[in-house]
Amino acid sequence: MQIIVLPGDGIGPEITTATLAVLRATEKAFGLKLDLVEEVIGLESHRLHGTTVRPHLLDQVRAADGMILGPTSTFDYAEGTSGQYNPSRFFRRGLDLFANIRPARTFPGMPARLGAFDLVVVRENTEGFYADRNMEAGNAEILVTPDVVVSLRRITRSCCMRIAQAAFELAQRRQKRVTAVHKANVLRVGDGMFLECCRLVAQDFPDVVLDEVIVDAMMAHVVRAPQRFDVIVTTNMFGDILSDLTAEMSGSLGLGGSLNAGTDCAMAQAAHGSAPDIAGRDIANPISLILSAALLLSWHGRRGGGAEFVAAGAAIEAAVAESIAAGASTKDLGGSLGTQAAGAAIAERVRRG
Ligand code: NAD
Repeated sequence: MQIIVLPGDGIGPEITTATLAVLRATEKAFGLKLDLVEEVIGLESHRLHGTTVRPHLLDQVRAADGMILGPTSTFDYAEGTSGQYNPSRFFRRGLDLFANIRPARTFPGMPARLGAFDLVVVRENTEGFYADRNMEAGNAEILVTPDVVVSLRRITRSCCMRIAQAAFELAQRRQKRVTAVHKANVLRVGDGMFLECCRLVAQDFPDVVLDEVIVDAMMAHVVRAPQRFDVIVTTNMFGDILSDLTAEMSGSLGLGGSLNAGTDCAMAQAAHGSAPDIAGRDIANPISLILSAALLLSWHGRRGGGAEFVAAGAAIEAAVAESIAAGASTKDLGGSLGTQAAGAAIAERVRRG
């Protein structure tokens, strides 16, 4: 399996190094053949090549079996004007990675303020209120006068259908419950269509239960009783916000792993940003990217890569759980290990099996 590895900005390189240590241990333990190809991205790429993301990387990733993208400091980029493009948007759009799968679960050994839970947010990734990916050319955010901005949200039936399909397929492998989160009481046409698609797809999955929750009420429901939820499907921005909440509810944003999946490509990516406030200090939690890499291995395995990749993904998650239970974790989880030591503790547990 060839994986293109792009470390990114801020804490990106640190959590990527720790993730690669876990992948190398997994490769040995499971007899996998992993070809990990590192390429530069983000501000370092801009310094070396005049752009935060070199266009040829798209073909390189297409020809590979997957990619790992570290977080980038996109808020600091002078978007578009000087070769500073958002790499995440570039790959999600360029590779049509429409499903952003963001699991959130508690782990034994950590205080679970809201009780134990295990859920997954399935977020549409290619349209919605993201002005930078809604148009064939140009941007869907328009400065009408110096004091008036119009931001357009695009919702299409085909994108609603495929994200609903992805959510139901996932639920069928889990607890067989899908919750569609929407604002159809106000966004009657757009979210109305999203709900219509969820109901339509539900008909093909008679063993999966669908319920529907309005997004603002969802914030209360998910905090009050996260155990109620299994797979949550929603449009782009709602999913972006909700999944940071559920990651933090699980104990730390540093536990938020995610996979961006399309039909033929997938990208492992932490749910959080580049955390400049803690960058370069060896204190960031690498688990987010480690769990993301585990999701990528499982995805590859399920698509014909072989059962050993699915087993390897599960083994990484188990090693993460064991490390947390043993207190071998970073400061955000109440531990005292640095980023690399926390990664090494997980790698060691994968090795031991
Ligand atoms: P952030 O997600 O980087 O950080 C929010 C808080 O969570 C900070 O206190 C940070 O220290 C903490 N945190 C995040 N990851 C952690 C980890 N692995 N371990 C421990 N603590 C962690 O959000 P921000 O500060 O608003 O954004 C910083 C930069 O990241 C901005 O430039 C933003 O545009 C960018 N960003 C990038 C992505 C991406 O690359 N996918 C996503 C979101 C934000």
